[in-house]
Amino acid sequence: MKRRDFLLLSAATLAGCHLPPPVFSDAAKISTALPDADDWQRLAQQLTGDLLFPAADDYNRLKKAANARYDEVPTAVIIRCQTAADVQHAVRFIRQYQLPFTVRSGGHSYTGLSSTSGVLLDIGLLNLISLRQNIASIGAGAKLGDVYATLGLQQRSIPAGSCASVGIAGLVLGGGLGIADRRFGLTCDALRRVELVTATGELIYCSNTEHPELFWALRGGGGGQFGIATQFEFDTFATAPIRNYIGRYPLKDGNQVLAVWQQWLKTLPDEIWSQATVWFNGQQDSKPEIQLRACSMGHPALLSQHWYQLALQLGSVWSEVDMQDHQYLDFMLTDCDGLEMPECKLPNQHERGQLKRVAMAGSSDIFNDYLPLSALHHLLNAIRKRHRDGFRGGLMLTSMGGAIRRVPPGHSAFAHRAAVLSAQYLFSGPVGTPEAMLQEGAVWVNQMRKQMRRWSSNGAYLNYTDALIKDWPQAYYGDNYVALQQLKRQYDPDNLFRFAQSIQPA
Ligand SMILES: Cc1cc2nc3c(=O)[nH]c(=O)nc-3n(C[C@H](O)[C@H](O)[C@H](O)COP(=O)(O)OP(=O)(O)OC[C@H]3O[C@@H](n4cnc5c(N)ncnc54)[C@H](O)[C@@H]3O)c2cc1C
Repeated sequence: MKRRDFLLLSAATLAGCHLPPPVFSDAAKISTALPDADDWQRLAQQLTGDLLFPAADDYNRLKKAANARYDEVPTAVIIRCQTAADVQHAVRFIRQYQLPFTVRSGGHSYTGLSSTSGVLLDIGLLNLISLRQNIASIGAGAKLGDVYATLGLQQRSIPAGSCASVGIAGLVLGGGLGIADRRFGLTCDALRRVELVTATGELIYCSNTEHPELFWALRGGGGGQFGIATQFEFDTFATAPIRNYIGRYPLKDGNQVLAVWQQWLKTLPDEIWSQATVWFNGQQDSKPEIQLRACSMGHPALLSQHWYQLALQLGSVWSEVDMQDHQYLDFMLTDCDGLEMPECKLPNQHERGQLKRVAMAGSSDIFNDYLPLSALHHLLNAIRKRHRDGFRGGLMLTSMGGAIRRVPPGHSAFAHRAAVLSAQYLFSGPVGTPEAMLQEGAVWVNQMRKQMRRWSSNGAYLNYTDALIKDWPQAYYGDNYVALQQLKRQYDPDNLFRFAQSIQPA
């Protein structure tokens, strides 16, 4: 390590963590000094993966997360873990020297939770995927695109999200919403077993029979809280072709469209998933529209029958409807159209990655009842105003229920089993969007949540983190928070894994 790098690291180590340092129960093993160059050298020798300081080739590429809002965070050192043993060595080292750190799988955290000015533990290389007797074994650094591509070759899949570059770890630990969730449950509902490095660097396994209470917490309790997952085992389902409808309607008719759409959602079998979206790009003369989507895997006729009913009820509203049938893999890998799998990554995830990064902020709402007309009026007025004022923004309303709701509320740490709809409020701009603009967007998405408070459960989806939510324990975890705090006390009493909105040990 060069002296300049070491000085930079030391400065970041001292200044990087704004949270109070933990008081370790095994104080005898804790060093009060910062690691020196020899200590780093020793760590490097223990690792199969790499230790990268700011002067290293690739450092600038690898330090960036998916959200360009955090590009300027001056990461001191990157540990690229290649094996679970690497993660164990790294955790023990971080603990010994009390270094600020975070862990990154896909790097999509909305609030930059996988960016740090201290040590970045990048587990992206722990990405092996295999299938045996219909059980998928997935390295915690794998991206959803690779998961779909590898399992899809054997006509199997897991219920998960829609974006190829999202990491399996962050997704499953926070729950995992996607087009198959009403039929097969959340990503975390398909989880059978987790390999995890604890706060003391021990490698343990969590399942219904091994550390079952921690397994409960890992299904919806969120990333970066109880340990570092290194591998997951999932139940899989057999894939089938997907039929997809998209209907476009003028935003001015939005109240009627969403009212009819919600009535229609109530009639849907679990085989059908649906979403309503509105996007506007900040140009006042553009004409935003409401887009309704519905898709079904393996039940094309059922979907067409239902869509026909929706179209009948919306007959008086101008629309443009598109229906397409897709092979399962083509549909799930839409992001990768024309790209080979290494190219279907963000540039920071793979040197050949060609997917585009954005700077963004988001927030969410959980609704346990469908929205009455007064709520739709309120929601769409706020959206129309945002458009009229010439700002960027987006709204996504997504069907929940079905298999998600059939899991009893206390069965896992995911708190929103009773939901019928989730809402996502989004602001996004190109790489280089000024921070002032991003802050304005973050305030707007949070205000959308406040405006809908009267009708929401007050819940928020943990994977759409919003740093401005004040009552976050209740919003993310609901009644599960107290149990999660007790587990935190049991598995991470010194609060090694901590950030602004992390679970506090009881
Ligand atoms: C473009 C985009 C599309 C999305 N689509 C969906 C979707 O369809 N469905 C959905 O449910 N969500 C979706 N999300 C939200 C997504 O689930 C969360 O952002 C999730 O946290 C991303 O996981 P990651 O591994 O990519 O992120 P990271 O930023 O790497 O990790 C997220 C959090 O988990 C921690 N973490 C990472 N790896 C580990 C590990 N191995 N062990 C323990 N903790 C870890 C991090 O420290 C951080 O706190 C989307 C987000 C974006 C930006």
